[in-house]
Amino acid sequence: MLTEDLARTTSSTQTRARPAPEQVLRQVFGYEHFRGPQQAIIQTVVDGGDALVIMPTGGGKSLCYQIPALVRPGVGIIVSPLIALMQDQVAALQQLGVRAAFLNSTQDFQEVRGIEEALYQGELDLLYCAPERLLQSRTLDLLHRCQLALFAIDEAHCVSQWGHDFRSDYLGLGALSEQFPDVPRIALTATADDRTQQEIAQRLQLVDAQHFISGFDRPNIQYRIGQKNNANKQLLAFINAEHPGEAGVVYCLSRSKVEATAKMLCDHGFNALPYHAGLPADVRARHQERFLREDGVIIVATIAFGMGIDKPDVRFVAHLDLPKSIEAYYQETGRAGRDGQPSTAWMVYGLQDAIKLRQMLESSAGNDEFKRVERQKLDAMLGLCEVTACRRQVLLRYFGEEAPEPCGNCDTCLTPPETWDATDAVRKALSCVYRTGQRFGVNYVIDVLRGVSNERIQQFGHHALSTFGIGGELSTTEWRSVFRQLVANGYLRVDAEGFGALALTETCRPLLKGDDSIQLRRDRSEPKSAKRSSGKSARDRLSQDLSPADQPLWEALRARRKELAAEQGVPPYVIFHDATLLDILHRKPRSLAELAEANGVGQAKLERYGQAFLDVLMSVVTDSNTI
Ligand code: ADP
Ligand code: ZN
Repeated sequence: MLTEDLARTTSSTQTRARPAPEQVLRQVFGYEHFRGPQQAIIQTVVDGGDALVIMPTGGGKSLCYQIPALVRPGVGIIVSPLIALMQDQVAALQQLGVRAAFLNSTQDFQEVRGIEEALYQGELDLLYCAPERLLQSRTLDLLHRCQLALFAIDEAHCVSQWGHDFRSDYLGLGALSEQFPDVPRIALTATADDRTQQEIAQRLQLVDAQHFISGFDRPNIQYRIGQKNNANKQLLAFINAEHPGEAGVVYCLSRSKVEATAKMLCDHGFNALPYHAGLPADVRARHQERFLREDGVIIVATIAFGMGIDKPDVRFVAHLDLPKSIEAYYQETGRAGRDGQPSTAWMVYGLQDAIKLRQMLESSAGNDEFKRVERQKLDAMLGLCEVTACRRQVLLRYFGEEAPEPCGNCDTCLTPPETWDATDAVRKALSCVYRTGQRFGVNYVIDVLRGVSNERIQQFGHHALSTFGIGGELSTTEWRSVFRQLVANGYLRVDAEGFGALALTETCRPLLKGDDSIQLRRDRSEPKSAKRSSGKSARDRLSQDLSPADQPLWEALRARRKELAAEQGVPPYVIFHDATLLDILHRKPRSLAELAEANGVGQAKLERYGQAFLDVLMSVVTDSNTI
């Protein structure tokens, strides 16, 4: 049931004043302030207007329709394509005391009848509905007999036929505007470039909708890309130093690497589970479920994992292989830190990654136009890896957003990379590629440069070349760094078949003619972690000012949350988010009234769980006082 006061004021049969959005924010959700454009969006819909909302993941889209649905008389209908997500959202709302339910294909007739009855009786504030279910005439007929507060169309980019999440059922949603001309509609998504925005507005017939476009930035995510030398060791060091016991996703390119990496993490004591399309559906479902429900599970996955993962407390996303585009990288890393708390996007990459992706692209089926677009995307991704300026600026610019200042929360900002004048070295490298006939891979060319006289080189007569042995001043590792950057920055092309022969591109001309100079990154032997550079890991930042004395209390609060979650059959974050728990820890409230002040403690949760957490506070604080 909706908390009693609100229930009285929101009940459609009463003529009392509606509650103010601020009041709902405070009483139901326990938050003090609206975030960014939330207030303006909510007001638009409360007043009966349509809205198109583009907001990054974690920006707070849900409140934009949940609050108007509670403020306006009648029930809010939420269209959502993802069944698992629907169930979690409804569970979370019920915990807040909101009368929410869902309709989808997982339910039997009995259940469906129960929900339809509740809907008809006006006993629901929010109803989540799969698009195909909503558009059935049975459902539409029922809705015509109910008072409707609004339609919210979540993941609205699914209407776009060009995107990879296209759902044909979404096309039918345009009809809602004719069928229910007086019900406000709000469409929301995190991913929409200009073209998709136009498409959403057009196909959903949001002719007069107000557009609310927020930036793409995810300031709480720290972006870091290091050089790969021993990926497993680097990954272990990263998790141990910064995210022990925390939830994360590790992305790999192949199924076999997913399996091997999950096993490696388990061997080192982590709770890691594999996820890829080759696993039976029930295993995948079980692993996903454990990731959502248990604390501190690491999922090791191919790109098959992610759609519909709404877990707010994913603290890191690690890439052991390079994604194919910045879009993919941003979407995958974007699964970290939905709760707005500090999180890390961590990646290691090396020369082989650059070569492998270039080869995969060139040898893929697909016409020239397709390849040209894919090549541009890969170039941008490799450019991001090699950039010496702020990574966030590169990311945001890629999505058409200006970022005037370096962000201060990426590896290149925290520890600016050194560069060196590599003009001479690069000329040597390029002419060696040229003189060996543009038919050899990087290891061979480096051997020639360094004057290694092996059988193969003898056989081809390359020990007699003018470039033989002219590169003794750099080590093999340093040369590999040079070649990686030349491949990444498009000076060298990689042969699609065979062993990756290098060839020059047009870009090389000014360099070879002596008209141009070139600066390259100097690789560090170990990618510096933010811990060493800024003195604070994400974990430190999350539990900022968490003094050692507070540690037992923090653990006790988390343990209590876990128990309550298990009793209720919901994930721990549905009871309270980390941020809320941390605020409780800092405030150390002594009464329910004081506890109610904490961020994220609404009225229903206060009544349900307040005493349980106060008891923990009392016992732990008393314990430590008596020592
Ligand atoms: P999105 O759907 O845009 O990814 P959500 O609606 O899931 O984001 O919100 C992300 C997180 O931010 C949620 O945990 C939510 O409770 C929290 N949140 C949203 N709005 C506020 C607010 N005004 N104050 C505090 N926390 C908020
Ligand atoms: Zn930066």
